[in-house]
Amino acid sequence: MPGLFIGTGFSGHGFGIGPAAGKLMADLVANDTPLVDPYMFRLSRFSDGTKIVIDASF
Ligand SMILES: Cc1cc2nc3c(=O)[nH]c(=O)nc-3n(C[C@H](O)[C@H](O)[C@H](O)COP(=O)(O)OP(=O)(O)OC[C@H]3O[C@@H](n4cnc5c(N)ncnc54)[C@H](O)[C@@H]3O)c2cc1C
Repeated sequence: MPGLFIGTGFSGHGFGIGPAAGKLMADLVANDTPLVDPYMFRLSRFSDGTKIVIDASF
């Protein structure tokens, strides 16, 4: 749905990553350059057939 942004699924880590996730969400909503590449967090990763990997290099 165009214009719908979802920031969820933090499970037991939402306090720790909440500030950075909030900044990323704000960047996406405002169409600013995002803090980090949001590609790995896309919702379609659960359905597009790509392998889900964690990039811990940043
Ligand atoms: C016991 C426990 C320990 C934790 N310990 C840690 C920790 O040590 N470190 C850490 O980083 N994270 C921890 N977490 C995880 C962290 O608390 C969550 O990841 C974080 O609170 C999620 O934030 P959120 O804003 O996404 O959701 P939430 O904090 O769940 O906020 C959602 C809000 O939406 C409201 N809401 C829901 N439905 C509606 C509706 N229909 N209309 C209006 N309002 C609605 C709810 O009342 C709530 O206020 C812990 C969680 C638990 C349960």
